[in-house]
Amino acid sequence: MKPAAFDYQRIASADEACAVLAQMGEDARILAGGQSLMAVLNMRLAQPQRLLDISRCAPLQQLRVAQGTLQIGAAVTQATLEWRPGLAQELPLLQLAFPHISHFQVRNRGTVAGSIAHADPSAELPLCLLALQGEVLLKSARASRRVAAEDFFTGMLQTTRRADELVEAVSFPLARPGQGFGFEEFSVRHGDFAVCAVAAVADGQQLRVAVGGVADRPVARNFPLLHGDALADALNDFAWQLQARDEPQASAALRRQLVRQLGRRVAVQALADRSRRLTHPSAGTPA
Ligand SMILES: Cc1cc2nc3c(=O)[nH]c(=O)nc-3n(C[C@H](O)[C@H](O)[C@H](O)COP(=O)(O)OP(=O)(O)OC[C@H]3O[C@@H](n4cnc5c(N)ncnc54)[C@H](O)[C@@H]3O)c2cc1C
Repeated sequence: MKPAAFDYQRIASADEACAVLAQMGEDARILAGGQSLMAVLNMRLAQPQRLLDISRCAPLQQLRVAQGTLQIGAAVTQATLEWRPGLAQELPLLQLAFPHISHFQVRNRGTVAGSIAHADPSAELPLCLLALQGEVLLKSARASRRVAAEDFFTGMLQTTRRADELVEAVSFPLARPGQGFGFEEFSVRHGDFAVCAVAAVADGQQLRVAVGGVADRPVARNFPLLHGDALADALNDFAWQLQARDEPQASAALRRQLVRQLGRRVAVQALADRSRRLTHPSAGTPA
């Protein structure tokens, strides 16, 4: 199928995008990498009057380290971040997650912020943003605001972004000394969306486990540093709390089992990574 006719506008600044969004609301849609939006348009699941192409907007292509975070502009592609020198030290969790995001052709066009704005419950970048307790920076013609990842994702492809708001950037907290990271995913074929993906962040006090692909949005829980049967019991409770989706290609029971299995593996990985990074502080996390 082909999309319904639309107007196309190339955007030169965040203010320009916000001015159009203020006027047109949901009749205008941001086009970032187009890797999800074009499929939606081709299937005529959305029929916006105008597309606002931010992909060549220089001010939105910036990456900035500020106050212990890496701030990623809305037009930064996934590949740009994936190949950023020092990513293994700055954001080891993303280094672990990137190889699971589709194939490099998709990552070359797809943006980091676009994946987060799209809010697919199986997508890896929303999951990592939630695991790391990052933020989404939203801008409209009226105001700017920051929303914690915990409050941003509200359901299947649903977020708290308002129709007149642009995701101007997303902000990932940089890895701190004493943290360790783990990431595991199960998908039918390599590069497919995850049936279940699990990310873990361990520090001296707690283990944070985030699960994608199971519920209608990524979900995270903080646990004390548990091991053995205590960890297995905690992950089992978490799996049951998730209201797992039941679909022909993956049952709710399979998804719960993956939470238990992958959860245990990422917990072990994150704790081992923490010990390794304490011994070798400048080392990255091995993929
Ligand atoms: C074959 C294939 C396989 C894929 N597999 C995976 C996978 O395994 N894991 C995964 O995570 N993703 C996967 N994807 C999706 C991919 O990562 C997309 O790039 C990503 O989801 C959307 O990013 P984008 O920049 O292409 O956004 P677009 O497609 O341009 O936009 C997506 C949606 O977000 C909105 N939007 C985008 N940017 C903004 C913004 N700055 N402000 C407000 N709204 C905005 C758009 O209006 C649109 O509604 C796959 C895609 C394809 C084509």
